[in-house]
Amino acid sequence: MITQEKYRSKVKKLLADGSVKMVIGYGPGSTADRRRPLFVRSFEDADQLVLDSNCIGNLSGYLVTEGLLSDEKHVAIFLRPEGIRSLNILAAESQLNLDQIIIFGFDSVGREVNSLPGEHAEEFVEFIGSIKENPPEKSRDPLLYRIEQMNSQERFAFWKEEFSRCIKCYACRQSCPMCYCRRCIVDSNQPQWVNTSSHTLGNFEWNIVRAFHLAGRCVGCGNCDRACPVNIPLRLINARMAEEVLESFDHFAGISNTQEPVLASFKKEDSETFIL
Ligand code: SF4
Ligand code: SF4
Repeated sequence: MITQEKYRSKVKKLLADGSVKMVIGYGPGSTADRRRPLFVRSFEDADQLVLDSNCIGNLSGYLVTEGLLSDEKHVAIFLRPEGIRSLNILAAESQLNLDQIIIFGFDSVGREVNSLPGEHAEEFVEFIGSIKENPPEKSRDPLLYRIEQMNSQERFAFWKEEFSRCIKCYACRQSCPMCYCRRCIVDSNQPQWVNTSSHTLGNFEWNIVRAFHLAGRCVGCGNCDRACPVNIPLRLINARMAEEVLESFDHFAGISNTQEPVLASFKKEDSETFIL
């Protein structure tokens, strides 16, 4: 198991020798089993760091905060495998320079930081590749099987019911590391591409547009699902879309920082079933 002191002292060392200007990690949350992001700039901050199996949020989205990396200084960050995959996508999409990032990799069962391959994204590629071949023992959500048994009318009714609770708070978008646009299409009203009111049509538009925007980019970190205040099972849409992308295009999002975006690249073997 990871000892808190061990990685706190690693963080302090990086701060003390000026290797990084900040470390993004986890601190105590509002309840004993919740964690919140902690932005560590001093030894006092470092003493607040926590790392355990409750550290489940993907912190990588904070790296694209406007101006954070523009001074070319380094930042260190605690990331689980999904977070490292999203970091690779952000780099592949030219949103950040990986040379500025030091990674403290850890896994969900609290393996030691040092037991993962390294501190730089490229050193994790082999590790992430093995996740694709041997996904962790995480059973597929039983609800996905149930939805697949439904006919199209039942499936439509299921999602209509789920989306009817959407209040268009956009917490799913705000928490997603892949939703980094400074101005989202839904915030534009001239022209208004996506209806902003919380009614059936607008809610379908929003959630479906978002699912397609994340096709081949979602790493399954679950930030969106946990952020949704009305518990819409967004994980089901993202997980099913990721399966579809893997089956159709052999594309596992975030496997490297040079991976081409699945919907903006073409291979001769790609399925063309959509061409009638
Ligand atoms: S869509 Fe949800 S699960 Fe996928 S990367 Fe974004 S926050 Fe994570
Ligand atoms: S977080 Fe939930 S309620 Fe808020 S916009 Fe997203 S789906 Fe709708």
